[in-house]
Amino acid sequence: MSRYDVAIIGGGINGVGIARDLSIRGFKVILFEKEDFGWATTWSSSCMVHGGARYIIHDIGVTYKSSRDAGILTKIVPYMLSRRPFIVVTSSKFMATLFDIYMSVYDLFSRMRGAVRHMRLTQDEVSYMTAGEVLAKGGGVLTEEYTVDPQRLALVNAISAQEFGAKVLNHTEVIRVERKDGSFLISAKNPLYNSEIKVESKLVINAAGPWIDKVISNSIVGTDQKKKKRLRPTKGIHIVFPGKILNSVISFQAIDGRYLLFVPLEDRTILGTTDDDFFGDPDDIEILRDEVEYLLHSAEKFIKNIRSFKPYSTKVGLRPTPYVYGVNEDKITREFEIEDEDGIIHVLGGKLASFRLLSEIVSDFVSQKLGIKTQCKTHILPLPGADDIDERFDGDFEAYSENIKKKIKDEFSLDDQIAYLLTKKYGIRARELLKTFGLGELICYCSKVFEGEIKWAIKREFAETIDDISRRTWACDGFCNGILCMRKVQKILEAEGKNPDHKNFVLRREKLLYPVKKYNEELWNEFENFKKKVL
Ligand SMILES: Cc1cc2nc3c(=O)[nH]c(=O)nc-3n(C[C@H](O)[C@H](O)[C@H](O)COP(=O)(O)OP(=O)(O)OC[C@H]3O[C@@H](n4cnc5c(N)ncnc54)[C@H](O)[C@@H]3O)c2cc1C
Repeated sequence: MSRYDVAIIGGGINGVGIARDLSIRGFKVILFEKEDFGWATTWSSSCMVHGGARYIIHDIGVTYKSSRDAGILTKIVPYMLSRRPFIVVTSSKFMATLFDIYMSVYDLFSRMRGAVRHMRLTQDEVSYMTAGEVLAKGGGVLTEEYTVDPQRLALVNAISAQEFGAKVLNHTEVIRVERKDGSFLISAKNPLYNSEIKVESKLVINAAGPWIDKVISNSIVGTDQKKKKRLRPTKGIHIVFPGKILNSVISFQAIDGRYLLFVPLEDRTILGTTDDDFFGDPDDIEILRDEVEYLLHSAEKFIKNIRSFKPYSTKVGLRPTPYVYGVNEDKITREFEIEDEDGIIHVLGGKLASFRLLSEIVSDFVSQKLGIKTQCKTHILPLPGADDIDERFDGDFEAYSENIKKKIKDEFSLDDQIAYLLTKKYGIRARELLKTFGLGELICYCSKVFEGEIKWAIKREFAETIDDISRRTWACDGFCNGILCMRKVQKILEAEGKNPDHKNFVLRREKLLYPVKKYNEELWNEFENFKKKVL
C-alpha cells in the first residue's frame, strides 16, 4: 500500500491550493476529488479575485487578506486575470457620497492589488461608461477588480501539485477514513474505471467545502464528532447570459438591500448572487425560478435591458461558511478556520481570492504537526502557463499577457481573438499546445474552441468526460449548451480511449437551463428536442 504524508479530500480551489503548497515544500501528497477539480463551489463563484470591499465594516481581515493575495495572483498567474472597471451604481446622491467615503478606505487596500484609486462618477459618466445600459440616478463610484476563470485556476493548481510530485486524482471519492497505528487508512473509489484505491497517510485534510460535515458523518470511522455542525452553508445562484454584455462589473442594491453583481467574463456575463441558508444535501441543490426572478427584478432597476438579454444557463453553489447561530446569512464571516481533530484537519470557509493564503496557513500548520521546518514558496513560484516568469517580472500582468498573445499570434498565424482566448486559458503553454496538437477543426462555435484544445485537455489536463472538457476549454458550455458541439467532443474522447457517455452531461445542462426556461423558450425547446434525439 502506498504511504503519504498528507491525504487531501476535495479538489476545489482550497484542496488543490493546499496540495500544491505542500508538494512544493517536499511533502508526499495525495489528493482525492470525487468529481473534477473546481467543479463545485469554486465553479459557482462570481469569478471575482477581488479585494473584498464589502467586508470592510464586518470583516476587515478578509479585505486585507483578499487584497494582498489578489496582488500576489497578478504575479504568479498573470495571464488568467482580467482587469475590470468596477462600478457601484446608486439611486441617490446621498448613497453615492457614502460610497465615495467608503471607497476612500478601500483605496488603502487597492495598492496591494496594483489597482487604481476610486473615482466618483456622475449619472452621465456611468451612462457613458456603460453605453447607456446602466441607470444610476445618484451616479456611481468607480474602482477596479479582477476576474478569473475559477475552474482553470483550480486546474492549474492541480497540475502544478502533480508537477511537484503529488498524486492528484479526479473522479475519485473518499468513502472511508480510519485510524490505524497512529496514521490513517483511506479508501476511495473511481466509478469511471470501476476501481478502488487504498492508501495510508500520516495526516488527512478535509477540504471538501460544503461536504465537510457529510465527509465526517459518512466516511470517518470511529469519530465521536458526527453530530457536531461545523458549517452553515449558504446557497448562491447566478444567471448566465451569452457574450460580454458590458466591459465593467456593475454592483447594485437588490430589492432586499443586499448588493448584487453583473459580471462580464470572456465569453459570457453573469448576474448574481443570492445568499440564502441551505439545510439540504450538498449533492442535491436546486435552483428555483423564484431566485432567478429575484435577480432579474432587482437588476432591472439599474440595467435597462436586462430582460432582453436571453439567459442560457444558471450556476449554483454553497458557500462552505463556518457555523454560527443568530446572524443573517450574508453577515456570516468569510474568514477561514482550521480545526484539528487529532490528525484530521478540517478547513472551513475562505474565498476564491485568498485560497493561496489559506493554503499557506494550512501547510504551515501541517509542517508544524509533522515536526518539519518548511517555507512557503507559492507567492513567488508561478503557476503553469506562467512558466517563463522570473524574479525580474514587474507585475504588469496585462503587458505580460499581451506579449504571449502577440508571440503565438505571429508564430502560428492566428486570428487576434483566437490568440487572446488561448492566452487567457493556457498562458505560455498555448505554444506547446499548438506545437503538439495544432489548432485543428473548430469544435465549438459559441466559445471558439478547437480540436487541439480538447486533445490537450485529455492528454495534459486530466479530462475524462464531456463535462471535464467543458470546464477546461469552455466547449459545450456556451450558448448552445452543447447542442452543436457535444457529438464532436464525444468523438474525440472516444478516439482518445475515454468514456464518451453523454447522459450525465445532458441532464446536468438541462437542470441548469430549466430555471431560465421562461426567459428563453426557444433555446429550451431546441434543447428538449436535442435531448430526445440523444438520450
Ligand atoms: C455563489 C458564490 C459566489 C462566490 N463568489 C466569490 C467570488 O467572486 N470571489 C471569491 O473570492 N469567492 C467567492 N465565493 C467563495 C468561493 O467560491 C469559495 O470560498 C471557494 O470556492 C470554496 O472552495 P472549496 O475548495 O472550499 O470548495 P469546493 O470548490 O466546493 O470544493 C470542495 C470539493 O470537495 C469535493 N469532495 C466532497 N466530498 C468528497 C469526497 N468524499 N471525496 C473526494 N472529494 C470530495 C467536491 O467534489 C468539491 O469539488 C463564492 C461562493 C459562492 C457560493
